[in-house]
Amino acid sequence: MTPNPASASPAPKQKTIGIIGAGQLGRMLALAGYPLGLRFVFLDKRADAPGAQVGGIILGELNDAQKIAELAAQVDVLTYDVENVPVAALGDIPKHKTFFPPVAALAAGQDRLSEKQLFQKLKIPTAKYRTVDSMPDLEQAIQAIGYPAVLKTRQLGYDGRGQRLIRSPAELGSAFNALGGVPLLLEQFIEFEREVSLIAVRNPRGDMRFYPLSENRHSDGILRLSLAPYADRKLQARAQLYLKRILQHFDYAGVLTVEFFVKNGQLIANETAPRVHNSGHWTIEGVVTSQFENHIRAILDLPLGDTSTIGHSAMVNFIGQMPAVADVLEIPGAHYHDYGKQPRPGRKLGHATLVCKTRKELMSRLQNFPGLDA
Ligand code: AMP
Repeated sequence: MTPNPASASPAPKQKTIGIIGAGQLGRMLALAGYPLGLRFVFLDKRADAPGAQVGGIILGELNDAQKIAELAAQVDVLTYDVENVPVAALGDIPKHKTFFPPVAALAAGQDRLSEKQLFQKLKIPTAKYRTVDSMPDLEQAIQAIGYPAVLKTRQLGYDGRGQRLIRSPAELGSAFNALGGVPLLLEQFIEFEREVSLIAVRNPRGDMRFYPLSENRHSDGILRLSLAPYADRKLQARAQLYLKRILQHFDYAGVLTVEFFVKNGQLIANETAPRVHNSGHWTIEGVVTSQFENHIRAILDLPLGDTSTIGHSAMVNFIGQMPAVADVLEIPGAHYHDYGKQPRPGRKLGHATLVCKTRKELMSRLQNFPGLDA
């Protein structure tokens, strides 16, 4: 038998993706990327971080330019799973190395002021705001915004950290003292009817896909429950229009998320995240192609996957403690995700996704769902 020449040629080199940050988002990116024949290396300060449990790890701080350059040298494409990587720490990445989503999008999301300016520039409605650097600034800002208002740190705020609700003049001083000393922003408090998010993906050749809106319920500023699809054709179309503007503005590649408040049938943009998002975890089982796989496809400039839903989904975050795996899995349509983290109060340790054929079935199976407070 003559040997098949194709079988003699060396196997194509497996591409390696470098991820700055090895949290649960990085872990789920790697898990989605392995079927595509990829390898993953993370940069994180902890050897037992969720991503490090499923890929290679370079130990180091996320603001260490040398460590980031070391990671860059080992991989074909770089991405990140946290949005607080300081832009200055990316300076030693060689120019030819692919880095997505773009640095400009990362930078815009790191300061609430630049984020607000982006929304304004792209004509995306957002809450009224004023910058605050001193107590007199705050007194002036509250005149313009009115009560109630939310005082937020401009940088490093997430999951409700670094913010204070101000309901009356008596609360001005304590809010400023709690947060002051860093640049702040005072924002109008929106009496929203609900919170939703839209996740979109774009590849470098400009193809775009949008997931259905997800309705998100928070408590203490932390996401507890997402329900999707949030079926509202008008809001879906409007949200897609807004995200398209952002994607095109940055010549974006990868997944982008925007969180909105819904009030009187209108969308008010709250925050952008230039990455996969907690409110899209349900897409792993609830959509033909998950946000994680589509992010990987996008940064490799591969064709994007179908974002149609498979049914009606709920995502329940497990905060502080994990329920017993068997208690979740005995519910038909439920899937269990454990990020491999040490339990700590207020810490996101895992989630479950519940996928059902109908919304009615979904809501009924969510009753008494483990880990979901009433
Ligand atoms: P953030 O860190 O800005 O995403 O805020 C966390 C959560 O706090 C949001 O998901 C809202 O539930 C609430 N929140 C933040 N800003 C406002 C606002 N301007 N009006 C009403 N609620 C807000």
